[in-house]
Amino acid sequence: MTKAPKLQNDCFVLPTGVHWTPVGEALALLEERLQAVVDIEVCAVEASDGRILANNVLAPRSHPPCANSAVDGYAFVGGLLEGSHCLDLQEGRSAAGEAFVGVISERQAVRILTGAVMPQGADTVVLQEDVTVEAGKVYVNGPLKAGANARKSGEDVVQGTKVFAAGHIIQPQDIAVMISVGVVHVRVFKPLRVAVISTGAELCAPGATARSDQIFDANRPMLKAILQRWGMQVVDMGIVPDDANLVRQALDIASEHADVILTSGGASAGDEDHMSAVLNKTGNMALWRIAVKPGRPLALGLWSGVPVFGLPGNPVAAFVCTLVFARPALMQLSGAGFIAPQALSLPAAFVKTKKRGRREYVRGRLRNGAVEVFASEGSGRVSGLSWADGLVELPDAATKISAGEPVKFFLYSSFGL
Ligand code: AMP
Ligand code: MG
Repeated sequence: MTKAPKLQNDCFVLPTGVHWTPVGEALALLEERLQAVVDIEVCAVEASDGRILANNVLAPRSHPPCANSAVDGYAFVGGLLEGSHCLDLQEGRSAAGEAFVGVISERQAVRILTGAVMPQGADTVVLQEDVTVEAGKVYVNGPLKAGANARKSGEDVVQGTKVFAAGHIIQPQDIAVMISVGVVHVRVFKPLRVAVISTGAELCAPGATARSDQIFDANRPMLKAILQRWGMQVVDMGIVPDDANLVRQALDIASEHADVILTSGGASAGDEDHMSAVLNKTGNMALWRIAVKPGRPLALGLWSGVPVFGLPGNPVAAFVCTLVFARPALMQLSGAGFIAPQALSLPAAFVKTKKRGRREYVRGRLRNGAVEVFASEGSGRVSGLSWADGLVELPDAATKISAGEPVKFFLYSSFGL
C-alpha cells in the first residue's frame, strides 16, 4: 500500500486584497492547491467498476492476440480480382478455440468460423453467403480485397501500449477492455472518505417527529447520495446544533475518520453561523467570497490537516456548490484529477437579466432542443432541483440573456449524477 502525501496548511489561503473571486479563479486555485490524499491498493479488474486508477495501465498482450476471422466463411490467400474464381477446399476447418493445423497455399481455401484463428498462410475470408461449394471446390466471384473479413493481430490494442491513464475512473466497458488485453489486477486509489455534517438548530432528522418550527435535514441524505454516486465512502456525522463547542467536537471526530469533511449550514457570517466562526478561529479558514449565485460565501478550511468544505445551508445552494466546487475538488483529492463537466451549447427558451461580474447557475431542463429555466429563483425551492435535469450557466460578464441565445447547459449526468 502506498501512503498519500499531506496537504499544505495554507492550501485554502486566498491572495490578499481579493474581494469577490470569479468562479474560474476559485476553481483554478482549488486545482492548484489540492492533490490526491488517498492511499493506493490493489483490486481485481472484475471488481474495479467506479474505482480510480493510480497508475497507467499497459496491455500485457495484444487484442486480438492472433489474426482471426470476422465472419463465417472460407479463408484463403490474398485478394481476388474481378471475375469468377475456383479454390480447392481443404480438409478440416478452423473454429473458434480450435484452430486449423496446416498451411494454406495459393488457390486453396479452408472452412473458417467467426473468431477462429486464421490458418497459416491465409489472410482473407469470403463470406459463406457469397460462395458455392461443390465437389471439393469453392466458387467465388471477385473482386475481394486482400485482408477482407479478417481481423489482424493487435488491430485493436498492441501489447505494451497504454490502455488507460492514471486518474481514469473505471467504467463497465473499461473492464471489458482490460480483461481483453489480459489485465487481472489494477492499482487503484482507496475510496475518498467524506464526512457529512448538517448544522442548524432548526433541523430535524429524517423520520423523526418534527415540531412545526423545525424543518427536515434534507442536505445530508442528498449529499450522501451524491457522494455514493461518485464512488466515495460516506461518514455520516448527523446533525450538529448551532453551538461552537459541538461544531468543534464534530469536526474533531470527522477529521479522525474521514479524508475530507462536507458541512452544510452556518457557513456565512451571521450570529448563528458557527461553522465559519469555528473554522475561522482554528481551521486556517479562508472565507471564499465567490462571485456566484446561488452560494453565499463558501467556507473552506483545514481541520487537523483535513480539508473542510463549508457549504451553504440552503439545499439548492448546497447542491449547486457541491456540483460546481466540491466535485472537482473531491475528484482531485480522490486521485481522479480536477474533472470539469462537459457543457452542451443550446438555445435559451427564456429571457433573463443578471448582474455583471457574477456567474449564475440556474435550474434548467432540456425540452424540444432548447433550455427552459425554473420559474422561481428562490434558492429555498428545493422542488426546482427535481423539476430540472441540469444547470444552466450564465456567464460572469452577461447582463441579459435573450430567447434563442446559446447558453451553456450542464446535464446532471455531466456531474456524474
Ligand atoms: P444557513 O446556511 O445555516 O444560514 O441556512 C440557510 C437556510 O437553509 C436556512 O433556511 C436553513 O433552515 C436551511 N437549511 C440549513 N441546513 C439545512 C438542511 N440540512 N436541510 C434543509 N435546509 C437547511
Ligand atoms: Mg443555520
